[in-house]
Amino acid sequence: MKVDYIIVGQGIAGTMLSWFLLQQGRRVLVVDDGKVNSASRVAAGIINPVSGRRFEPAWLYDTIYPFAKKTYQELEQLLQVPVFTERELWSVFPSEQMRQAFITKTTGDAYTIMPDHLKYETFLDQPYGAAIVKGATVNLRALLPAYRRYLQEQESLLETHLELANLEVTPAGVQYGHISATKIIFCDGVATTGNPFFKDIKFLPNKGEVLLIKVPGLVTTDIIKKSITLVPQEESVFWAGSSFAWEYADDMPTGKQRDVLEKSLQQLLKVPYTVLNQLAAVRPSGNDRRPMAGFHPEYPAVGIFNGLGTKGCSLAPYMAAHLADVFAANALLMQEIDVNRYFNIRKG
Ligand SMILES: Cc1cc2nc3c(=O)[nH]c(=O)nc-3n(C[C@H](O)[C@H](O)[C@H](O)COP(=O)(O)OP(=O)(O)OC[C@H]3O[C@@H](n4cnc5c(N)ncnc54)[C@H](O)[C@@H]3O)c2cc1C
Repeated sequence: MKVDYIIVGQGIAGTMLSWFLLQQGRRVLVVDDGKVNSASRVAAGIINPVSGRRFEPAWLYDTIYPFAKKTYQELEQLLQVPVFTERELWSVFPSEQMRQAFITKTTGDAYTIMPDHLKYETFLDQPYGAAIVKGATVNLRALLPAYRRYLQEQESLLETHLELANLEVTPAGVQYGHISATKIIFCDGVATTGNPFFKDIKFLPNKGEVLLIKVPGLVTTDIIKKSITLVPQEESVFWAGSSFAWEYADDMPTGKQRDVLEKSLQQLLKVPYTVLNQLAAVRPSGNDRRPMAGFHPEYPAVGIFNGLGTKGCSLAPYMAAHLADVFAANALLMQEIDVNRYFNIRKG
C-alpha cells in the first residue's frame, strides 16, 4: 500500500490534519489504537475566548474561532452528527478581587456581558456574582467516532498501535510493514514524549481528572464555571472538571484528585449531586504552550502536529489547515508553532 501521508493518531489533531489533507486530494492513512482515555476522548470540548485566571484573551482567538466554527459546522453536515454548539459560559467569580480583575480585563470586548441579574440562585453559591462569556463546545464524543467511520469508508483508517521499532525511514520516505508513505506525521498526543525523533522537544504534559455528575433539577445549556467547570451532557448530567497535575504516576483516576474536584463542587453547588464516573487523561503540552508542527530537521519525512495543550478544540482546525497549506507549499509555517524552535534550527 502506498500513501502520501501516514497520520499517527486520531485525536482532534489527527482528525483535523487528515481532514484537510484529504480535502487537498492527498492519499492519507490514519493509524490509531483507540486509546480509551486519550486527551481528546476525555476532554469537554470547551472553546473559551478568555484564557486562564488572568482573563487574558486567548491567543489568535479572532482568527481561530471563526475558522473552527466553520470547520466543525462543515463536518457536522458531512457526518450528520451534532458537533458544534455556541454556548454561554456562566462564569462565577470566586472573590471580589477576581470580579474586579475580570471587569478591568474584559470591558469593551465582544465576548463578555455583565448580567443584570443572577441566574441559578437555587443551585449555585455566588456571593461575588457572575459574568457571561460567549463560548462554544465541540462534541468530541460524537465527532471522533463519526469521523472514524468516514475514514473507514474512505479506506483511510488502520486500527492498530503503530510500533516505532517497525518504522523505517527510507530515502523515498517511510516504510511501515507493507505501507510506504512519503511522510509520516505524529499526531499521537502525549505518546510523542517517548518518540526518539522528538526527544529534543520540551514537553510539559499534565494530567487532568474529571467527574461525571448528576445534579437533580439543574437543567441548562450553559457551561457553568468557577474553580471547576460544569459542561451539560444529557439532562441534569454534567462533565465536571478538570484538575491539573504535573507530577503523576500514571494516567488513571486517583482518589486524591477526586477529593480536589469534590471540594470545588461543594464550593460551587448549594444542592446535592451524585458522582456517576471519574475519568483521567494527559494533556499534550509544550513548555511554551504553543502547538508544535512541521518536519524533523534531519528526517524530513518525519513530521509532527502536537502540543495543543488545554485548547485542542479551538486551535486544531486552523493550525491543521495551515499545516496542510505548508505541506502543499502554499504557505510558510508560522514561526510560533514551528517544531524547529526545539532544535534551534530555523529555515531562512
Ligand atoms: C481532562 C481534560 C479536559 C480537557 N478539556 C478541554 C476542553 O474543554 N477544550 C479543549 O479545547 N481542550 C481540552 N483538553 C485538551 C485537549 O484534550 C487536547 O488539547 C487535545 O485532545 C489533544 O489532542 P491530540 O489529538 O493532540 O492528542 P490525543 O487526543 O491524545 O490523541 C492522540 C491519539 O493518538 C493515538 N495514539 C497514540 N500513540 C499511538 C500509536 N503509537 N499508534 C496508534 N495510535 C496512537 C491515541 O489513541 C489517540 O487517539 C482537555 C484535556 C484533558 C485531559
